[in-house]
Amino acid sequence: MQKYSIHNEEKLKEILKENKFPPFRYNQIENAIYKNFVTDFDEIQTIPKDLRELLKANFFYTTLEIDTQKTSANGQTTKTLYKTETGEFIESVIMRHKTGRVTLCVSCQAGCPMACSFCATGKLWLLKNLETYEIVEQIIAAAKMLHEEESLSLRNIVYMGMGEPMLNYDNVAESIRVATTQKKLDLSNRRVTVSTCWIVPGIDKFTKDFPQTSLAVSLHSPNDEVRQSIMPVDHTYPLKDLMASLERYTKATNKRIFYEYIMINWVNDHPKLADELGQLLQWKLAHVNFIPYNAWEGTNSDGFTTTPKIIIDKFQKVLLDKYNVVSTVRMTMWDDIDAACGQLANKKEEEDKEEK
Ligand code: SAH
Repeated sequence: MQKYSIHNEEKLKEILKENKFPPFRYNQIENAIYKNFVTDFDEIQTIPKDLRELLKANFFYTTLEIDTQKTSANGQTTKTLYKTETGEFIESVIMRHKTGRVTLCVSCQAGCPMACSFCATGKLWLLKNLETYEIVEQIIAAAKMLHEEESLSLRNIVYMGMGEPMLNYDNVAESIRVATTQKKLDLSNRRVTVSTCWIVPGIDKFTKDFPQTSLAVSLHSPNDEVRQSIMPVDHTYPLKDLMASLERYTKATNKRIFYEYIMINWVNDHPKLADELGQLLQWKLAHVNFIPYNAWEGTNSDGFTTTPKIIIDKFQKVLLDKYNVVSTVRMTMWDDIDAACGQLANKKEEEDKEEK
């Protein structure tokens, strides 16, 4: 018999109804799963035994298997490598900030079809879109671990792991709903950030469906020429289209957009680009996050290196002094476990590929 994920609310309600259980039983199950992080249906003591049996017969709780889990030397970052039931490897990363804030970075695809030249995940191509429950399971596993082992609450999620969220829109959307529904994980919408390298139709949909949820854009260059040299997606959606959909987003939501700008030596860090970037973003609700390029293990055929800090400082100064655009530099504190941006390409997939 086919089993469903316990996160499939519609199915759960339907099966409860079919079996003549009153609606409050649903609330008890929901409470056990999302508030008490129960992982075994037998542990839900608030419901009768026959209902527990019904759940066991019709639903599964988790499909992701932890393959490895590593915490960085400074204890701030934990990277978990999961194996899905279909055999792909995906990763999520917990980041504990000094302020006490905790952020989880989740994957939404195994691999990624975007093929940005600087990104390790892109080298895997797309292996599969993750199911809603595979995204939700990453979130719950992290929330449970933080709660039970460290008495910490997970309050922030970023869709900045493996994959392009706008290309797995429906499942990402459903996982955001689970994360932000009060009776489920109850995260504030603005503390959930979806990062995209800019798939325009996805953005327009996102604007309509999630006006409160935060948006980050992987910009990486203020002009098409440089952008196209590192991000093939720019051929399909050039900057003109990108900025137009941004205008629509800002108009509809009045929210600040986070622009990610990877800093690669000699590629996208020419001083004139600081001015171009300033001109592109001035008068807009914008915040730039500079990400020093992280070198990753394996064949980095483009031979990229990281922009020196002094040049990033100059970019920041130009943006602020000349164009009044605020920026920060993202820390790379979790380098020692290959969990930094763009390094999420598990070695197992690579090994598998090599064997073939
Ligand atoms: N596909 C989405 C989600 C991935 S987010 C997107 O493109 O936004 C991961 C972020 O890390 C993106 O901004 C990505 O461009 C950046 N990144 C990828 N490889 C990197 C690397 N080697 N060094 C630093 N940042 C990188």
